[in-house]
Amino acid sequence: EKIDAGWNFDNSYVSLPESLYTRLKPDSVRLPKLVIFNETLAASLGLKGPALRSDDGAAVLAGNEIPEGADSLAQAYAGHQFGHFNRLGDGRAVLLGEQITPEGERFDIQLKGAGRTPYSRGGDGRAALGPMLREYIISEAMHALGIPTTRSLAVVTTGEPIFRETEQPGAIMTRVAASHLRVGTFQYVSAWGTDKDLQALADYTLQRHYPEADSDSDPNRYLVLLREVIKRQAELIAKWQLVGFIHGVMNTDNMALSGETIDYGPCAFMDVYDPATVFSSIDLQGRYAYGNQPGIAAWNLARFAETLLPLLHEDKGEAISLAEDAIADFQEIFLSHWLAGMRAKLGIFNEEPQDESLIEGLLEMMQQYRADYTHTFRALTLNKPEETVLHGTPEFTGWYELWQARLGRQQESQDASQQLMRASNPAVIPRNHRVEEALEAAVREEDFSVLERLLGVLANPYAYSSDQDDYNSLPEESTMPYRTFCGT
Ligand code: AMP
Ligand code: MG
Ligand code: MG
Repeated sequence: EKIDAGWNFDNSYVSLPESLYTRLKPDSVRLPKLVIFNETLAASLGLKGPALRSDDGAAVLAGNEIPEGADSLAQAYAGHQFGHFNRLGDGRAVLLGEQITPEGERFDIQLKGAGRTPYSRGGDGRAALGPMLREYIISEAMHALGIPTTRSLAVVTTGEPIFRETEQPGAIMTRVAASHLRVGTFQYVSAWGTDKDLQALADYTLQRHYPEADSDSDPNRYLVLLREVIKRQAELIAKWQLVGFIHGVMNTDNMALSGETIDYGPCAFMDVYDPATVFSSIDLQGRYAYGNQPGIAAWNLARFAETLLPLLHEDKGEAISLAEDAIADFQEIFLSHWLAGMRAKLGIFNEEPQDESLIEGLLEMMQQYRADYTHTFRALTLNKPEETVLHGTPEFTGWYELWQARLGRQQESQDASQQLMRASNPAVIPRNHRVEEALEAAVREEDFSVLERLLGVLANPYAYSSDQDDYNSLPEESTMPYRTFCGT
């Protein structure tokens, strides 16, 4: 007999054309054991912690039991991976269904690492504990930073080893997302579906993510869809840039139409400010380097726009020009969000034309003197410029005077300015060496206390509390360059 965990599933995805998914169940695993659980997220979803933390709950989170009302499936999609178009799909993820929360919101509940699917290609359908915990940490940190993202509800170990370069404990992560619709979902339909399928998918996306912008009677509703997706992505990428987040694998299948950050494989936060920063071991050309992220987003959105052409206008030339105009706006929308965010990081309330060069001036110094990005803004926020490596350089002295003069030209008090900076500059980010330390203790020693402490600190990045001080130590130069690996 199943215990009531608060599941309240709907399965709207199965109303889409059948070519877009395959109904299936996760493969069972030997010995499900819950190792981390997100109590706050569970509550907001209307799920019951005690029930999910029980053995029955772990069986559901491992895919051994299907909860009532779930109509589980794997999604089909395509994607440009490092510029190359491929037919993909959920190779190791199963969507249980859409949980309708007590507030009436709809979230995908997906098990990642749940076994092989028709889209697995050469893969084993499984995931290793380390990378699943890593996704858990970083996605929850992103959420706490105020950045739209998929969330992590739980990680269970499977009791089965999986084989990568070395033998690893197998694990399954429960991912919660506004949806898993991607640019690649549209690419899939565009390449292998009909125009009718495409329209059904576009209507579904509008209803699910842009209901306030949508109207059945609007002849331009698919242009509205394109423009809304562009807006959300421009805002999202600006937020990444402002905290120094490097996604690492911005393939079109990893760009969500909801505007959430998705797919935490080789991502990492930048330490020293440098637009060329790349952490991913496979990104040899630096395609997904920090400084390239806005340009890559625009490139991905152009691929999205291409899929929509048949819906934009019956005349192909007209359709292309509508799409091009929309894509051309990305840069400006991005820049306005980025500028607003940078002003806030510097405690600036109003706008002056010189602000952009003030900001660029700081970034250039940071790059030249290899200043840590987060640390520099934190020191400025705490009014401790002497703590940055920039202090004492002639450039910084001049820049600091300009900045102080700029702050003096606004009506808001110094106090208000500092409050704004505190709310805009995280005191703590998931430092790569801290994340590794937590993963090491969890995977090697089955000690999850280091991870729990780290999660606690990352949950309030703007708190500026003393328990965070410990987490601000910079990595030793010898631990750099840090390398990350595509989710395995
Ligand atoms: P990603 O690089 O994480 O975006 O993954 C790209 C594609 O590879 C997606 O279709 C994944 O589902 C698939 N994939 C990744 N790892 C595995 C695995 N271990 N088994 C099967 N498919 C996988
Ligand atoms: Mg992916
Ligand atoms: Mg991945």
